Amino acid sequence: MVGLVIVSHSYFLAQGVLELARQMAAPGVKIAAAGGLDGPDHALGTDPFMVQQAIEAVDGPDGVLVLMDLGSAILSTEMALEFVTEETRQRVLLCEAPLVEGALAAAVQAGLGSSLAVTAAEARSALLPKATHLGVQIAGPVVSSPVSTTERVIQLRLTVRNRLGLHARPAALFVRTVGRFASSMTVRNVTRGGPAVNAHSINLVATQAIRQGDEIEIGASGADAEAALAALAQLADTGFGDGITPVDSAAPSADAAVSAAPALTAASADLDEPLRSLQGIAAAPGIAIGPVRRFEPTVPPVVLRQRGVSNPAAEWERLQGARQVARQNIEEMHARLWQQGAAAEAAIFDAHLLFLDDPALLEPAQAAIFGQADSAEAAWHDIIETTAAAYAALDDAYLQARAADVRDVGRQVLLALAGQRATFSLDAPAILVADDLAPSDTANLDRSQVLALCTARGGSTSHSAILARTLGIPAVVGLGARVLAVPTDTLMVVNGDSGEVIIAPAAAAVATWEARRSAWLDARQQAAATSQQAAVTTDGMHVEVVANIGSVADALAAVAAGAEGVGLLRTEFLYLDRAVAPSEAEQTDIYRAIFAVMGQRPIVVRTLDVGGDKELAYIALGHEDNPFLGTRAVRLYRERPDLIEPQLRALLRAAVGRRVRIMFPMIATYDEVVMVRGWLDKAQRDLAAAGVPAPTDLQVGIMIEIPAAAVLADKLAPAVDFFSIGTNDLTQYTMAAERGNPRVAYLTDALHPAVLRLIAQVITAAHDHGRWVGVCGELAGDLTAIPILLGLGLDEFSMNPAAIPPAKQLLRTLNRQALRDLASHVLTLNSAQAVRAAVRAALPAG
Ligand code: PEP
Ligand code: MG
Repeated sequence: MVGLVIVSHSYFLAQGVLELARQMAAPGVKIAAAGGLDGPDHALGTDPFMVQQAIEAVDGPDGVLVLMDLGSAILSTEMALEFVTEETRQRVLLCEAPLVEGALAAAVQAGLGSSLAVTAAEARSALLPKATHLGVQIAGPVVSSPVSTTERVIQLRLTVRNRLGLHARPAALFVRTVGRFASSMTVRNVTRGGPAVNAHSINLVATQAIRQGDEIEIGASGADAEAALAALAQLADTGFGDGITPVDSAAPSADAAVSAAPALTAASADLDEPLRSLQGIAAAPGIAIGPVRRFEPTVPPVVLRQRGVSNPAAEWERLQGARQVARQNIEEMHARLWQQGAAAEAAIFDAHLLFLDDPALLEPAQAAIFGQADSAEAAWHDIIETTAAAYAALDDAYLQARAADVRDVGRQVLLALAGQRATFSLDAPAILVADDLAPSDTANLDRSQVLALCTARGGSTSHSAILARTLGIPAVVGLGARVLAVPTDTLMVVNGDSGEVIIAPAAAAVATWEARRSAWLDARQQAAATSQQAAVTTDGMHVEVVANIGSVADALAAVAAGAEGVGLLRTEFLYLDRAVAPSEAEQTDIYRAIFAVMGQRPIVVRTLDVGGDKELAYIALGHEDNPFLGTRAVRLYRERPDLIEPQLRALLRAAVGRRVRIMFPMIATYDEVVMVRGWLDKAQRDLAAAGVPAPTDLQVGIMIEIPAAAVLADKLAPAVDFFSIGTNDLTQYTMAAERGNPRVAYLTDALHPAVLRLIAQVITAAHDHGRWVGVCGELAGDLTAIPILLGLGLDEFSMNPAAIPPAKQLLRTLNRQALRDLASHVLTLNSAQAVRAAVRAALPAG
């Protein structure tokens, strides 16, 4: 075994590093330290004779690796080499690796019986884990897999359960265990999507950043591969020497919570009040009460990870066949949702079909089958996991949620490969409790039997949440693992409006909740039945209720939901999955298709709002420290007129014979209004010069989403035909709290009086100049906000199509004149909570 010497200026530093290295090393690794001049009393300095003694103490046939700190430590070590025998000198390697990190890495590697050169190489790359952790790029060792591609490879997947994951000590134990076997081995962080790296290298294992909860895959090839994987599985059961800790003590693991649950139900009989409630994220409105049933997903069989299939072409064929089956299933779900009037949600499955055909999935799968002789299951599973992990690692919450979509498609193909189909059915109405639900699971649910959905994980932008909203199933997501502990058949109340779940409610409360549920069902039925009728207030005013859309499918959904037009067409959504810029002709075609669906209804089209959290693959935005405060929307057009000019011409071409209005986003100043109007005039002139018909009298508006524009609304109003208030952005900019950041989510409440005062100011300014004004942020569809906005005099409410029927229904019960006082009153309050309470007090039935 290679011996190690640690040389430092400081006695204490040398002893400390020695102690750490000994902890990491296997027994039998010889390590000696030479620090200071003469023990703790003369702790600083270096002495060549001490270094010589240390070298001789650990010398052996495999050689000695010496690690030094700096300056005279190096000189003293070089001098020490003059005192040792020639034979010893030949075996000593002075290594430039960092002292502390290098010593620990070398100690582990020496313990594996590695050569002097390999131990030194491992010490040299010891900065890699730290650099990776800190996100710094340094030249590292080639991340290669030592596992043979010709030999049979077996694989093991396991979840790391110790609290700190594979940090230094557990990683060392892992590598030492690997080193006990002759097989070549790799490890890969499946959850974070890392490459398969040499499991014999402490640095490469540590740079995988394997944390608690991560799934890792260990590959082994060689005579004792099975024994090696068994030993690692055993090690994982001990938490890699650290013990097992629950993931989050505030949200205990499902296992831990199961044992706590009986106590909950047992005690409930003694109490008048509900025993225990859980708070999650309100994902789909409505009230449900009923018995709990656990959702059991159909899981494909565990992928038998054997390489070396004899007929890769046949495996590839099997994969094609399975994709075909999955395609049929997805198309069926798509058709079913479409028939149910959920065109926008059916579009989720359009995206699933794209995943199924995505070359970024197919090409690596094909390479794995033909190049590594992987089975179809292994090849598909690997690329799906890698892709899903890449989505999950992104900063944007919406994109992170797409990982579930990729896995859903992946699972369907794996099920098809196993000759299975997802099947889950309820024989009686129940509240379905699940860890999480894939979109296909949600779409396949029988609406007549599922009273509500509760999930431990997930957010309000997950597709299952979106689908639940469309299917009209009340849902609360993100409840944490405790919800999984509620025993089957326990009576539960789900309040999809507030996100509250009540477990085993007392008898007296049950009647109240049942009454609330029937009131909700009646209201919903009535809302759907009257959705095509106008929203006329009790004092006879027709309120324009229109839709926010981003596709042809949305346009269809909007019309079906009773939209009287479009208040916001988010044009950037049309180009999200494009790698190259759409031509003017392509844009014209897309707009024509959407306008055709809307017929003669008014359509407000917003020009490209790229930047902030919205990126288009074909527009290189470049790095900005605060992208929401950076080159977004109109600010980008100044630099890239080539983006806005063709879009305006395409819109004008498509607008002929339609009631199109053009709106510009992210306006902060009067000068910007002049600038965008200039582009529009130019587009009109260009088309006229080319003899292309285009409207010249269409309405032009701006979005009010920057406080500066709200404050100066009286100056901007004369320059435009209308305003549309983007409350999503107006709130984030007013509160200085980024809209996608959960840590400041408590601030991004559009009902805050600070935001409401700006809205009031904008409405007044617009009306003073004879302009109309709408709201197209989420606030417009919020049933608590609608009475306030109406009282403030808002002209147009633009919202998600699904929100239209209940919004219209509410508006029909309201009296605009009477709400003026409430609207003025809430402006004087000092919190969003106080605003909500005031609305509840004024309109108890709402
Ligand atoms: C808004 O900011 O309120 C808005 C409607 O625009 P977007 O959500 O697309 O930024
Ligand atoms: Mg906006």
